Amino acid sequence: MTNNLFVYNTLTRKKERFEPINPPFVGLYACGPTVYGDAHLGHARQAITFDVLYRYLQHLGYKVRYVRNITDVGHLEDDADEGEDKILKKARLESLEPMEVVQHYMNRYRLNMDSLNVLHPSIEPRASGHIIEQQELIGKIIEAGYAYEVNGSVYFDVTAYNNKHPYGQLSGRKIEDLLSNTRSLDGQSEKRNPLDFSLWKKADPAHIMRWPSKWSDGYPGWHLECSAMSTKYLGMQFDIHGGGLDLLFPHHECEIAQNVAGYGKPSVRYWMHNNMITINGQKMGRSLGNIITLDQLFAGDHPGLEQAYGPMVIRFFILQAHYRSTLDFSNEALQASEKGLNRLLSAVAKLDHIQALGKGSIDVEALAERCNNAMEDDMNTAMLVGHLLSGITQINKLAEGSDTISAEDLEKLKVLYHSWVFLVLGLELPEATGLANEITGDLIEMILQLRSDAKSNRDFKTADRIRNELTDLGITIKDRKDGADWEIS
Ligand code: ZN
Repeated sequence: MTNNLFVYNTLTRKKERFEPINPPFVGLYACGPTVYGDAHLGHARQAITFDVLYRYLQHLGYKVRYVRNITDVGHLEDDADEGEDKILKKARLESLEPMEVVQHYMNRYRLNMDSLNVLHPSIEPRASGHIIEQQELIGKIIEAGYAYEVNGSVYFDVTAYNNKHPYGQLSGRKIEDLLSNTRSLDGQSEKRNPLDFSLWKKADPAHIMRWPSKWSDGYPGWHLECSAMSTKYLGMQFDIHGGGLDLLFPHHECEIAQNVAGYGKPSVRYWMHNNMITINGQKMGRSLGNIITLDQLFAGDHPGLEQAYGPMVIRFFILQAHYRSTLDFSNEALQASEKGLNRLLSAVAKLDHIQALGKGSIDVEALAERCNNAMEDDMNTAMLVGHLLSGITQINKLAEGSDTISAEDLEKLKVLYHSWVFLVLGLELPEATGLANEITGDLIEMILQLRSDAKSNRDFKTADRIRNELTDLGITIKDRKDGADWEIS
């Protein structure tokens, strides 16, 4: 399989030619949500980034196994090693079972992703369903001498690891700098070193989510699940690991250390990270109180929103930026996206009504090449969208009849727009059903008027034919004195 795809590898800090380990198969893993609250723009950006990558790799002809996990245990407050589990805290506040919280937010997350037309991953493993795999990995890390047990908890020994393998390569951090920026241990901690992180935590008596192990009744550390589940489903070495930049450190850094320590070598070939969303120039965060959830965006139900924004507007807004750039949310930006999306979708709709009347000025080959080049350059959807929008002027000229196109070029142009807009960028016509219903109604009224005219002209043959053919289509007609009622059965 040949391609010219280059992707930016966070680990090497450069664009590298994409060469899968075992073509035509590609293993893709992306960190999924911790399900303790409603999904927001940040979740949408990460999911859409890797959804487009998943779609694009398939478009290039690869057979992709896409694994996106659900974190339902072990993710503690502030991504720290001490403190309450995020899901347990929510369960306590709402008097629910932890697994009720998980199910509730997992269902809502999936509904949000369906609205955004994010494809379902091939496998969606949950951390709580892979406790044995995680315990096995802890055993391997202890055996290799890179973890220690204290009072029933197990910690990764960053110092021991760093003596043999560089720790901090992915995030570009040096262990000395990390140490000088970390508070020293207060004597209460079980850790030998403040950079050490938990692989297994002994559960205190009030902790509900717990599993037996040879160390204690407890639960796994947050970073462990992705090491265990990615390799279980994609093999000890796989192609792409993705996630948001906020997961780079410590989550992904710790994942690399766990895999090298437990399996003897790093598992991931290309690390890819999408950048963050800011809100009116400010960082978005629960602590800052400026999070807008997807449901609020779809309904226009938030003081910071001037109107509701449909899922496709959100998707298009996200695709109009390159995934490695920051993206600033504002009402103006979303309104501009809405206009751009409408222009693009109505141009695609016009393509179906253009007649090929012979060669004109449009160079479809050149447009196709520009689109391919944009995506091959580290999946530059911003550039691709720009090229697709730039072609609209010519589509409009063809629709108005002020330019012409050959049949062959018209077919290529249709395929080009359909495959990029719908298959790869994953946009869809959100109002299509409503509009179609309206048009169908008008058409039936028009046909019934023709039938009524036929009857007035005593052309009963035509009138009966119209009635019979409508009946065959499932449209029942009841004649009245002054016309007819109809019903779709
Ligand atoms: Zn992860």
